[in-house]
Amino acid sequence: MARIAVIGTGYVGLVSSACFADLGNDVVGIDIDATKVRLLEQGCIPIYEPQLEELVQRNRTAGRLRFTTDYLCGLADAEFVFIAVATPSGSEGEADMRQVEAATIAIAQHLVGDAVVVNKSTMPIGAADWVTQLLRKHQTPDIHCAVVSNPEFLREGSAVADFMQPDRVVLGSNDRAAAERVAALYQPLKCPIMLTDTRTAEMIKYASNALLATKISFINEIAAICERLGADVRQVAQGMGYDRRIGAAFLDAGVGYGGSCFPKDVRALEHMASVHGSHPQLLRTVMDINRDQKRVVLQKLRQVLGTLQDRTIGLLGLAFKPNTDDLRDAPALEIIHLLCHEGASVRAYDPAAMDKARALLPEVTFGRDAYETAQGCDALLVITEWNEFKQLDLRRLRRALAFPLLVDGRNIYEPDAMTRLGFIYCGIGRGQPVWSPVEYLAHETARTLAPIS
Ligand code: NAD
Repeated sequence: MARIAVIGTGYVGLVSSACFADLGNDVVGIDIDATKVRLLEQGCIPIYEPQLEELVQRNRTAGRLRFTTDYLCGLADAEFVFIAVATPSGSEGEADMRQVEAATIAIAQHLVGDAVVVNKSTMPIGAADWVTQLLRKHQTPDIHCAVVSNPEFLREGSAVADFMQPDRVVLGSNDRAAAERVAALYQPLKCPIMLTDTRTAEMIKYASNALLATKISFINEIAAICERLGADVRQVAQGMGYDRRIGAAFLDAGVGYGGSCFPKDVRALEHMASVHGSHPQLLRTVMDINRDQKRVVLQKLRQVLGTLQDRTIGLLGLAFKPNTDDLRDAPALEIIHLLCHEGASVRAYDPAAMDKARALLPEVTFGRDAYETAQGCDALLVITEWNEFKQLDLRRLRRALAFPLLVDGRNIYEPDAMTRLGFIYCGIGRGQPVWSPVEYLAHETARTLAPIS
């Protein structure tokens, strides 16, 4: 049993705290957000993440997990201090390290004994050296801290399972003994543990996210070509995915990647590369394709509806992916911005992100479910592939719409079945012909003459 402090109780910090406690360690989560800490101490979970609530409850009850805003009390006898604060994008695309800086200084000022400080946040290459210097500058001289870089690879929506069954754990340090002590914390997970130097560990995280983002932009480019040439990108991806050299993951064409990691991490890697004289042209293209992918959805709407001025557009899904309430850099936000800019009214629904969305999107009205959202809309967009949307009564959905245009930004429906149900269905890269307005008019006339039951 080890004594662990985790700085930051967000998506990564809270999941790490609860999972380390569940492995039998004594864990304190420290956060400067007093409201969050109060909620956690009452047993309430401030984020939506499957399995997390049960895990937190179980370990609080067992006395292995506490939360505090007080660094002195939280660090009192810590052997390991994990830094899990946010590293968002700065104005130039760089990782903004202000939260890490504040957390590191607070650690240095409040530690009363030696400890291993573990960088779990995604930090730029060289950050472990910088954290080491910052600690030395601010701590009392008789205390020794080793720094280990331990990037986190969990995914929101399956964070607990990902933490408990990782593909690998990466540990970078110039202090082998410290890295081995951190490795021992992960030993019960029985996964490959890679020990390396700090800069390599930091780069493994950025390179991994950049490759996953590249796969998404790659398949989105292939989707655009499929649309022109009449192929179906879903089947293309399936056929490619059987090849073990390629793999099926991250080959889903759609509205592009979002969330709190891929966009900022690709930007930060591109920024680091540029600043250090490299020429990251692939990363730039990956970002360009991803930005344009949001506009593809609007093009599809315009192609059928003409102008979007005074149209009412329904959105199904706001979170950047299913099983989370996280709206950070969610594609839906940019799409809503573009729709409003063109004069459309937006109505939206998400199974988990409604509270956060209400606070963030005053220009949007919200439906209580998919059907209420669709009611009277000129078009419906699927932006997040929640399971709930895969099981809708599509006839009811079709009847709710004023005009049966459905742009499926996640390719969750079958084009032929949707057309049979009376929808004008547009997926992403599904090989549909690019219809001219005249062809759409003919289609619409035929649809009006033969209303569905
Ligand atoms: P988050 O914004 O959800 O949580 C950060 C928390 O840190 C907040 O609760 C905030 O109040 C707290 N905080 C800020 N400054 C503090 C300070 N000085 N002292 C104590 N607490 C402080 O962030 P997140 O999504 O958990 O991400 C954390 C890091 O992990 C980032 O670097 C991110 O890139 C990385 N990461 C995130 C994910 C993910 O899926 N969210 C996955 C892998 C890696």
